[in-house]
Amino acid sequence: MVKRIIIDENAGPCGGVKRVIHLAEKNLAAGVKTASLGAVIHNNVEIDRLSNLGLDTVDQTEFVRVGQGGDKRKLLIRAHGEAPAVFHQAEELGIDVVDGTCPVVTRSQKYARMYHERGYQIVVVGKPKHAEVIGILGHCDDQAKVVHDEADVEQLDPDRPTYVLAQTTISDEMWTSMLAAIQKRVHDVVWRNTICAFVSDRETELRTFAASCDVMLFVGGFNSSNTKVMYDVCLQVNPRAHWIETAAEIDSKWLDGAETVGISGSASTPQWLLERIGQELTARCDADPTPSI
Ligand code: SF4
Repeated sequence: MVKRIIIDENAGPCGGVKRVIHLAEKNLAAGVKTASLGAVIHNNVEIDRLSNLGLDTVDQTEFVRVGQGGDKRKLLIRAHGEAPAVFHQAEELGIDVVDGTCPVVTRSQKYARMYHERGYQIVVVGKPKHAEVIGILGHCDDQAKVVHDEADVEQLDPDRPTYVLAQTTISDEMWTSMLAAIQKRVHDVVWRNTICAFVSDRETELRTFAASCDVMLFVGGFNSSNTKVMYDVCLQVNPRAHWIETAAEIDSKWLDGAETVGISGSASTPQWLLERIGQELTARCDADPTPSI
């Protein structure tokens, strides 16, 4: 029987996500119509909340209409950032931009551009279709290479001076193994570990937290890269870890024989959602949450 439900005290969104959500809320509260270019956060529950406040979401083809006519809106750039071409196009079309690019991502874009202009082969370790990676490629005239596995490493030019950086949300393990493979193939490698410190620190804290619970509920969007990385960290130390978006997905069988249930989330999981899931689970288990929540 579940006796304790513990919400991870170190969970909650990262600074970059908090910042872009604050920008959205601030504009909407001031009555400014605002549309996010792509999902502002990889969490459907939080998207629904912001949508109810009036935030629209537009894709790469729709955004050109954001500045037009009576339905004129500001364009919110999410924390992942965008390629310079998007900012130029918005300027040409007279669209007001609210730039929510996370400063940590801006730093990666800056380094990639700097080494690209110096003639280096730029290599981003990460997911080829991730929005942050696409934005970084745009800062290198779409000339950078993306490395996700060893087969990608084989495509690199071994004779060009090469600059390697990381998508901010990959795991330390992926970075270490891909960098080693690149250094084996390419002769002249300069690298910078651009994994976000928030993500690295969370890995360590999360490992300890997940190992201390009988069952671990990890809350985050099924489309979130950071959630996948963090959930895998939980699974490494606790085979009874489960990835959920809402309390409705919790299967009672998961809790069989468990005394302690931990609830945590990724960089894109709002704190209020963890608390709500804790309350809903408490009601289901009839547990006394007082000492833990
Ligand atoms: S995980 Fe790090 S890089 Fe990504 S938005 Fe959050 S603070 Fe910025």
